Amino acid sequence: MTFKNLKLIEPLLDAIAKQGYTAPTPIQEQAIPHILQGKDLIGIAQTGTGKTAAFVLPLLQIMSQSPGRIIPRSPRTLVLAPTRELAAQIDESFATYGSFMRFRHTVIFGGVSQVAQVRAISTGVDVLVATPGRLLDLMNQRHVNLNHLEFLVLDEVDRMLDMGFLVDVKRIIAKLPTHRQSIFLSATMPPRISELAKTLLYHPVRVEVAPQATTVKLVQQKVLFVDERNKIAILLELLKHRDLKCVLIFTRTKRRANNVAKSLTTQGIRAEAIHGNKSQGQRTRALDNFKSGHARVMVATDIAARGIDIDDISHVINYDLPVDQIDNYVHRIGRTARAGAKGTAYSLCASYERNALREIESLIKMNIEVMSHSFHSNMARDAVGAAARPPPKQQRGQRRSNTNRPTGRHYRSR
Ligand code: AMP
Repeated sequence: MTFKNLKLIEPLLDAIAKQGYTAPTPIQEQAIPHILQGKDLIGIAQTGTGKTAAFVLPLLQIMSQSPGRIIPRSPRTLVLAPTRELAAQIDESFATYGSFMRFRHTVIFGGVSQVAQVRAISTGVDVLVATPGRLLDLMNQRHVNLNHLEFLVLDEVDRMLDMGFLVDVKRIIAKLPTHRQSIFLSATMPPRISELAKTLLYHPVRVEVAPQATTVKLVQQKVLFVDERNKIAILLELLKHRDLKCVLIFTRTKRRANNVAKSLTTQGIRAEAIHGNKSQGQRTRALDNFKSGHARVMVATDIAARGIDIDDISHVINYDLPVDQIDNYVHRIGRTARAGAKGTAYSLCASYERNALREIESLIKMNIEVMSHSFHSNMARDAVGAAARPPPKQQRGQRRSNTNRPTGRHYRSR
């Protein structure tokens, strides 16, 4: 399958070629023809599958084939995204894929002054990408009017609901014309999300790609049993290895993200922290530093990391396991296996996180490789050794014999 087979027009094919894409990804292959035919669509796909281009490309094509007059404050296409970062990336994708076409687009999100955003909208845009809160604000102030909307995209709906945007999203949708084409994307489709989809879509086509296991399989996963007090020492040991070039570290709280970044920086490892207490300016600067390679490490909380699109993350480290929301494990490690690339994920597991680890393993339907002590320097070896939990009785013999393996690594037996 090629992009040409998908009946995309020349300016889009040129932009795709400029990006160096050789073939459509599965979600693009499945979704683009339906969207071009004007159908409503439910896409079940995670970040990293190429889902953004799957809706940006056909929407640009449809808009260019039925050019409409630009009406001040009244976009033709609205894309709703849960986070500022994701919204900015979608807006960038419109610029990238539409680089050989004439159309106007802009992005609005909270946390920054609305002045420039209002100015951009008031001159008129074809495409508006927005986070729900800021969009509602601007609608209430009559800076945005959605009466002429033709195309609606809801991206990462599961995240949007996790973040408490359901009421805002419903308020926005209540203001839209009923005659429109709608695209609904979510990584998961539990009942409350499919109920919402039913109320928004008209005879939708459903496409589903990259079940979570696909991403999971591409990532080499290892767990280290540690004592909570030694996590930072072990992290420093891991980071001594030069192949950990571009590392995304997850912590449970904002405070822990700050502390980890601070500890790394004092040890001479350039690290940025990104979380909800940072201003938009700080987040953008941190992201730029990380993307450019200026900072080798980014420490993030789950919410801050959502939607961040960085292609070359070599390693993900779960400094803390996602004990409260187990499926975040899959989202986290998926950061290092973007668009088919391979990656490695380490998890530091303290005693209070053992249950979470078991739940994660049952979610991903595999056992995660346990990293043996021989990996570490003396200091960290002691730290890990002190923390190693005696295995359950029936497994003792198994574990003892495993530690004699010449590879220095072993798998936990269940
Ligand atoms: P997304 O799932 O939209 O966040 O996309 C993940 C990454 O895949 C982005 O960095 C895109 O640039 C990249 N990508 C999108 N489509 C393709 C394609 N057909 N071939 C290779 N990479 C792609």
